[in-house]
Amino acid sequence: MVTGLPSTRPGSTPTIRELLAAGNRSFSFEFFPPKTPEAEEVLWRSIREIEQLRPTFVSITYGAGGTTRDGTIRVTERVAQDTSLTPLGHLTCVAHSRDELRSVIGAYAGSGVRNMLALRGDPPGGPSQPWVAHPEGMNHAIELVELIRSLGDFCVGVAAFPDKHPEAADLDADARVLAEKAEAGADYAITQMFFGADDYFSLVDRAAAYGCDIPILPGIMPVTNIKQIKRMAELTGMALPTAVTDRLHAVEEDPKAVREVGIEIASELCEKLLSGGAPGIHFITLNRSTATRQVYLNLQGTTV
Ligand SMILES: Cc1cc2nc3c(=O)[nH]c(=O)nc-3n(C[C@H](O)[C@H](O)[C@H](O)COP(=O)(O)OP(=O)(O)OC[C@H]3O[C@@H](n4cnc5c(N)ncnc54)[C@H](O)[C@@H]3O)c2cc1C
Repeated sequence: MVTGLPSTRPGSTPTIRELLAAGNRSFSFEFFPPKTPEAEEVLWRSIREIEQLRPTFVSITYGAGGTTRDGTIRVTERVAQDTSLTPLGHLTCVAHSRDELRSVIGAYAGSGVRNMLALRGDPPGGPSQPWVAHPEGMNHAIELVELIRSLGDFCVGVAAFPDKHPEAADLDADARVLAEKAEAGADYAITQMFFGADDYFSLVDRAAAYGCDIPILPGIMPVTNIKQIKRMAELTGMALPTAVTDRLHAVEEDPKAVREVGIEIASELCEKLLSGGAPGIHFITLNRSTATRQVYLNLQGTTV
């Protein structure tokens, strides 16, 4: 029962908790809210293509600096109402008071969205800047997990970091935070993008040592052009491994070959993760579904 919020609509989508508990491998795809009518068209074309693969869920990011609040809710609501997909709405604490966060959670609930990814968010100036909380807001994702949980029967996911969060003292501190988020009511985690299967399995082991056994879905983004190498490092605060960049730089004169190698690297990584026991894969699409769809289909032994 939702307290003080509109209850989720009858016929609202299943929870990711229920879908993961069903035991099948989870395949999910991440999108971001578009800023122009042209980008909106690209997004919906991609969502319709992904819909045909019948993924476990699709997620919609919340803009850095809390900028795309309305766009995120609008796209997530439309996915809930106009498609057969299960949507996951991201939510960050950036520049929001507790009351504003309550109202966003209420807007999700009113649209039939029961799945939320509770994040602190990066500082508005980017991951390298110091974090500053809203004066009436929150400092850590764990507080948002607690708030969402206190407001109703929602399913809550959180972020995890195989390569360490840039602000964390060490890998162990990160695993402890993940265990605390699970203790506070997180049902599962999705990782930041990474390139080493061993880094993922080490995170799972470290979290388990703290008693955390929630499913941890690996976040995978294929590199499709050379410029992305720098961009990904900026976003995650971690340089890509040379084993990956060497393979991409070896073909950098040929953009098509870079893309193919990027898809190959991502496919190999996903195979290692799944054969090692990962519960599924969360694909970061950048709203163009072709590369992630190809990786997904490679895992099923098909091509686009
Ligand atoms: C799957 C995924 C999806 C994402 N989607 C978005 C998005 O839609 N929009 C967006 O803006 N950003 C997004 N991000 C980025 C994310 O917001 C940043 O990485 C952010 O810096 C950390 O968020 P968090 O939820 O892990 O924060 P937290 O869990 O609060 O952690 C932040 C830092 O504080 C430390 N910490 C946490 N709790 C405590 C505590 N109790 N005491 C002391 N230290 C603590 C952690 O170790 C970490 O170093 C996403 C990240 C991932 C992995």
